Amino acid sequence: MKESIYTTVCPGCSIGCGLYIRESDKGAVSVDFLKSSPVNLGKLCRFGMRLPHYYSRLVSGKAEGQDCGTEDAVRAAASRLKGAGKIAMLSVGNTTCEEHIAFMKLAETLGTVVHTGIPVYAQLPPECHPHLEGMPFIDIENAEKIVLFIDPYVQYPLLVRRLLAAKRNGAYIISAGRTELHLAHENRKLSPEQCAELDLDSGSLIITDVHPHTDPCHIQQLLNIALDTGARLQVMKPFVNSEGADRLAKSRAGMMGISQIMSGIERGDIRTLVLLDSDPVELMPDTSRAVEVLKKLEDLIVISSRDSPVNAIADVVIATEPLYRKKGTFINAEGKLQENSGQGIDGIDAISMLSRELGADGFDHRQVHGYLHERMIETLASENRKPEYCRMECGTVPAQQNGACTLEYMYNPFMWFSQPDDNGFVLLDRGMVKSLRLKKGGTVRLDSEKGSMDMRYKVEKVPEGTILTGRKLPIATATVTKIKAEGC
Ligand code: SF4
Repeated sequence: MKESIYTTVCPGCSIGCGLYIRESDKGAVSVDFLKSSPVNLGKLCRFGMRLPHYYSRLVSGKAEGQDCGTEDAVRAAASRLKGAGKIAMLSVGNTTCEEHIAFMKLAETLGTVVHTGIPVYAQLPPECHPHLEGMPFIDIENAEKIVLFIDPYVQYPLLVRRLLAAKRNGAYIISAGRTELHLAHENRKLSPEQCAELDLDSGSLIITDVHPHTDPCHIQQLLNIALDTGARLQVMKPFVNSEGADRLAKSRAGMMGISQIMSGIERGDIRTLVLLDSDPVELMPDTSRAVEVLKKLEDLIVISSRDSPVNAIADVVIATEPLYRKKGTFINAEGKLQENSGQGIDGIDAISMLSRELGADGFDHRQVHGYLHERMIETLASENRKPEYCRMECGTVPAQQNGACTLEYMYNPFMWFSQPDDNGFVLLDRGMVKSLRLKKGGTVRLDSEKGSMDMRYKVEKVPEGTILTGRKLPIATATVTKIKAEGC
């Protein structure tokens, strides 16, 4: 049996852990540890270990309901795009910088821009944007006080080793998030505004994240705290190249989030959607609703390296090679440029071919890679972290009403990529177990306007009235869904 070995990064989150993918000549994929990777020293979380499953479903090209090769799919996409109006394009950063740039060039040809699906930027003055860019992870280890608004174990697992190193170096760690963390010295469930009580200074670090459903108020308030106290912000992001996609954007001011794009489709303001390795069915909290909305489009064109749910309802799917085989680079959440050893250029060639079919110039990997270097020099030049923005007026992050019961998503790599996970339970607090008289080892019944389901539960110190889930549930209508819970 012959085997090809690729040096690549895990697509699970913006930490960008390095690893090897071994691919047999029969197409079987296995993962091997890349101990020389400075990001993770060969370690991987459960998602990284399960990449063979992630890569097991190969994408096939199709056009108008028929399987087809790349050329036919590109021609079908071009014929739909010629004369199409009200086009939106989305690439959240699940592919290389080079493919993202090729997609941006295609957007220019179509007279539009590429949205990265993270709407927070559009709500912030541009001078705040550099503060959302990553800082070296080693700075986490050297911080004196760390405030966490994420659950690193669930959301960004390889961050845990940085936090443990910080703790060994004497850092005082406060978890302000929804779950209690054993590694924290204090667990306080604070709103961003309440960070003002924590006596932060320039030796302090606040770790949070931005993703397609982040409340802009949360980030505005943390930027204000950073301005007032001199504390630094490390902003994690969910996708392997979210950082690259954000830094490459020519202007972040008009960036539409995935929810805004879906609302635009519902209103009829967007009739054609072109996706690059970005799946609204996976990104939206309510999967069945997302499918209904996408079916309203006149044209749904997908360029994809994996067989994700949106492909099933797309008019055209242009299939490209899996991520680990692509020639290209990624920028992780600390701003580090990482490179795949693969030499695949199917994705860039397909986008270039589509550009030519639309009457514009084509391009090759060398040209888009050159553009990457020009852009990076510009963004590196803007990496001045001394706050130069003004204090922002901002609203408050909505507090839960007394007595209300809500189901909340804890976004994590398994959830973003609809990958199977063993964690088939919800988290709720002891008070709820008592008041609902739940039986040990039993289930809790959850009711929302979308229906009812029984779930196994675990007891955790979560906020009163909150039920947390690390999996998408069919009864959820949003990131936070009002529900009724009862014993069963
Ligand atoms: S921490 Fe993130 S990048 Fe690293 S293995 Fe897990 S999901 Fe992949």
